[in-house]
Amino acid sequence: MFAQLPILVVAPIETVSEINALRAYAWTVATELGVSTTYATHSEYSVTDFAEVHVPFEVLASRRLTDLTPVVLMAEALGLQVPTYERQDPSAGAECVCGQMQTVRTVYGDDGTVWCASCVGTAVGCVHCGADPFDENMIIVEDREQTFMPVCRPCIDGARAEGIRLRTVTRQPAVSTA
Ligand SMILES: [Zn+2]
Ligand SMILES: [Zn+2]
Repeated sequence: MFAQLPILVVAPIETVSEINALRAYAWTVATELGVSTTYATHSEYSVTDFAEVHVPFEVLASRRLTDLTPVVLMAEALGLQVPTYERQDPSAGAECVCGQMQTVRTVYGDDGTVWCASCVGTAVGCVHCGADPFDENMIIVEDREQTFMPVCRPCIDGARAEGIRLRTVTRQPAVSTA
């Protein structure tokens, strides 16, 4: 369970608002897919350290390619055959039977029912102890490596007791329009 590789999200990062939008999307991916998710603030990542690369679809329609970070990372992911996903069309968003809205990748069962990662069993749960993703105390934490990850409340409390600073992010970060 702990071997689950994180997801990398890439998009232009030339402006503060672009970085904010990328960070917000990474939070959504981590929340919906239940997997640690890093947002790329530079191009010095090894894409093979990640299970998937996600690209908000508006990136591909970008009017300019002066920002090389997402281009380099996407090219590496494609070249090394790391699965790469564009954001699904907003109209494909649907609600899981548990109530979680699926905007990143809507998964349907054979009977057309929508399943979120937690309900279908692909969410990893707490990245630290493996606690069940349905644990109502599961909280998204952001570390200094620009990574959002699901961690259970007891592990957060334990880390803090050891003096490790963790930033909990319980809502999608605001996207500035500046
Ligand atoms: Zn669900
Ligand atoms: Zn835990």
